[in-house]
Amino acid sequence: MTPPQRAQTVIVGGGAVGCAVAYSLAEAGRKDILVLEKEESLAAQTTSQAAGLVGQVRSTVEEVKLLMWSAKTFERLQADSPESPAWRKVGSLRVAHCDERIDELKNLKNVADEAGLETEFIDNDRARELWPLMTFEGVKAALWCPSDGYVQPYDLTMSYAAEARKLGVEFKTGARVSGVKLDGGRVAGIETDQGDIECEMIINAAGAFAYQLASSVGIELPIFPVRHEFFVTIDCEGIEPTLPVVRIPDSSIYVRSEVNSILVGGWETGSLSTDPRTVPLSGEQPIVEEDWEVLEFLGENVLPQVPVINELGIRHISKGWPTFTPDGRFIIGESSKVKGFVMAGGCNAHGISGSAGIGRHLVESLIDSDPSPYVKNLSPDRFDGDWDWNEARKKAQLMYESYYGLPH
Ligand SMILES: Cc1cc2nc3c(=O)[nH]c(=O)nc-3n(C[C@H](O)[C@H](O)[C@H](O)COP(=O)(O)OP(=O)(O)OC[C@H]3O[C@@H](n4cnc5c(N)ncnc54)[C@H](O)[C@@H]3O)c2cc1C
Repeated sequence: MTPPQRAQTVIVGGGAVGCAVAYSLAEAGRKDILVLEKEESLAAQTTSQAAGLVGQVRSTVEEVKLLMWSAKTFERLQADSPESPAWRKVGSLRVAHCDERIDELKNLKNVADEAGLETEFIDNDRARELWPLMTFEGVKAALWCPSDGYVQPYDLTMSYAAEARKLGVEFKTGARVSGVKLDGGRVAGIETDQGDIECEMIINAAGAFAYQLASSVGIELPIFPVRHEFFVTIDCEGIEPTLPVVRIPDSSIYVRSEVNSILVGGWETGSLSTDPRTVPLSGEQPIVEEDWEVLEFLGENVLPQVPVINELGIRHISKGWPTFTPDGRFIIGESSKVKGFVMAGGCNAHGISGSAGIGRHLVESLIDSDPSPYVKNLSPDRFDGDWDWNEARKKAQLMYESYYGLPH
């Protein structure tokens, strides 16, 4: 089926973010929305590669609230939608192995308290009850967040899409966007390999291609794909899907159960990024090869905490190109350079957990007559001035490498 020749709003990208944005806009009463996805199915790119961790404990109240909105949305979809997002509210633990980290956890708890997110410090005996196969060796403090958890990213995207369809949103997969039509400096239409579509608004949720799409209308944004990997072991007795997610920032790793096996990911130094200027909008991202040095780093760092890992083979490795920005923040909202061109990207590896919150903030930026300072701050306009490409790329990689870094 060819796409319609006209839509008021076209969303480019059928990943978690594009579908969450479609759902949020439709819920807010927007009509005539079309989602275009170049792949044959939704959630076919970065979204399907993600670990699905949903962590609401963040360093600012606004970020915590954005993530809280997401978690509440997942809970609502889980309860009400016939397409379940496979949300598991199993809670999370964030542990400290040094005094500076304890200070960080205390600060995070203060921020959580201010945002109204329930967290508490628990002792190692209680932590072991929650995760019996974890030693909690050397752990000096553990912050417990009972409303955190994990979601299956593919299922979540399908759940958004199902709810959005009910509200009238149309989806067209297998339709590749090749350009944008402007008229008098504002969006007038979109070009695809299935023909042109007239529209007034384009929402750029193209993930690792967000740079290219924005650049095609003269908006240069520092959105860098940075490689990320995790592994999943074979089945292991004693590992249940109900175990909480554990973040071990002093070892730069995260751990969760994946059905009856163990999933381990982390943030290595010496990260790898691509230069988006070298991949055209019509191209493909380079294939990510397994990096055994990184996987070994993950294995070695998790071993003292989960000794049983030594006996388990690897069943699956997931990898891809989540995007990072030099300031570590999402890019959300309409560009004042090109009217009708709206960003929903730069997810800094929390685009699954952040998806519903991104949708909500995008609605606020487009519909609210006076959006909050936080929402205004996420605008693509913050990169309108001069910035240095190489410097921005280095900073984006540093954001990745210091994902669990201590604040300076
Ligand atoms: C290994 C790994 C682990 C991760 N773990 C987590 C995690 O635990 N929690 C978390 O929150 N996040 C995690 N992430 C990050 C998360 O996957 C991303 O932030 C999220 O998927 C971004 O969603 P998106 O919709 O913006 O991008 P995508 O899923 O990439 O969607 C963009 C879509 O746009 C389409 N597109 C691009 N160009 C065009 C075009 N020209 N025409 C039409 N369509 C186009 C693409 O095909 C794609 O489907 C992880 C990522 C990786 C790689």
